[in-house]
Amino acid sequence: MTVECDVLVVGAGPAGAVTSLACVKQGLNTVLLEKNPVVGGYTKTKLDASADGELTKVIRELKLRTENEVYTSRWYAPSGNYFLLRSSTHEYFFKRGPEADSFEVSTVKEARKEGCKVFLNTKIKMLNEVKGKVDSVTVSKGGEEIHIKPKVVVAADGGNSMFHRFVNKTSENRKKLGYGVTGEGFSDTDSSNIYFDAELIPGGYFYLITGKSGVSSACIVLDSSKAENPAKEYFKRFLGANKELAEKIKLHSNTFSGEGLIFDIDRYVSKNIVFVGDAAGLLDPFFGYGMTSAIVSGYHAGRYIKKAFEEDNLALLEGYDSKIREKFDKRLSYLYQRVFESLKNEDLELIAEILNELDKKGNLEALLGQLTGETARDVEPSINVHGT
Ligand SMILES: Cc1cc2nc3c(=O)[nH]c(=O)nc-3n(C[C@H](O)[C@H](O)[C@H](O)COP(=O)(O)OP(=O)(O)OC[C@H]3O[C@@H](n4cnc5c(N)ncnc54)[C@H](O)[C@@H]3O)c2cc1C
Repeated sequence: MTVECDVLVVGAGPAGAVTSLACVKQGLNTVLLEKNPVVGGYTKTKLDASADGELTKVIRELKLRTENEVYTSRWYAPSGNYFLLRSSTHEYFFKRGPEADSFEVSTVKEARKEGCKVFLNTKIKMLNEVKGKVDSVTVSKGGEEIHIKPKVVVAADGGNSMFHRFVNKTSENRKKLGYGVTGEGFSDTDSSNIYFDAELIPGGYFYLITGKSGVSSACIVLDSSKAENPAKEYFKRFLGANKELAEKIKLHSNTFSGEGLIFDIDRYVSKNIVFVGDAAGLLDPFFGYGMTSAIVSGYHAGRYIKKAFEEDNLALLEGYDSKIREKFDKRLSYLYQRVFESLKNEDLELIAEILNELDKKGNLEALLGQLTGETARDVEPSINVHGT
């Protein structure tokens, strides 16, 4: 079979799913490939949290599925004292995995409804390149061979992207390591809970979240440069010292683990290849979060690809590169990680105390927004949805 298309998206994780939906909604002939037999089948977590950073706009515009919109976050110091961060923008929880109501499955379903061709269980056998451009892709699916001729290819195949050979990748070989359990009703649904302890969780943190449907996740996140033992050991040690928390989590729940390499690529567009999500190295070096960047980069990829087609000029894809650089400047996150790693438990206690004091005196959210480089509002034009 031969398929000609405007856009070929490789990978049906959050980034690929959103890119496909954004493209197909704007009238682009879009094909999505997933190497696994089911979308979300190999996703490690069941519930992810991610901060806003333009998510609200994208979620509303593309009508994406979320679990909770959460405005408060408790930041715990080792003593159990916490600082309650109230925010005017949401943090979002996303259900992950192969169920029909997960983020990736529901987004792919919408893309399919809009006309996106989705091929599961695929293996890319050959990329045919002409002068650095991907000219065609040969895919096997079951016993069948599919020849795809795309004008633009979107690399949405995660942190080990097969398209990395088209760019220069730099890394300090640091990984974010996660180990956790999922279950039901670990905490209330209106807040995320983040625990810091420099002795028990060096260079990392522990989080506890519960979605509206009841699905809960408790996870320890560590930086491989600081972790001397497997993440599971730290998870057990931390809960051993925090019995109340351990009781809430009920240790017989399902376990999960995973890791993500922290890296940068030198460009987000190489000829007709556009990088999104983890494939673009957008995993946050401090928190290890990647949902916001996957969704927002997928959305912008759709916008710039549409623009390039409208003006019949693939060079316009460069606008995507600049946009992603502006949106996801990771320098501050790298700095926070270094500063954070140097903190002792007494510093963490003091920070919680100071934040509580500052909160009583003024607009702490605005102050923290300035520190994290977040801007108040994004006033860009929206995706001009095909047919509306
Ligand atoms: C343990 C753990 C906990 C996490 N918790 C959070 C959290 O709370 N909040 C948060 O924001 N982020 C979290 N993350 C990170 C988040 O999961 C990722 O950033 C996010 O999934 C990135 O989405 P993506 O679509 O770019 O990549 P992926 O989710 O990796 O999706 C890539 C897709 O491409 C497919 N694929 C790969 N190669 C090919 C190929 N050759 N052909 C076809 N398909 C292919 C894969 O099967 C997969 O479906 C966590 C990660 C881990 C490991």
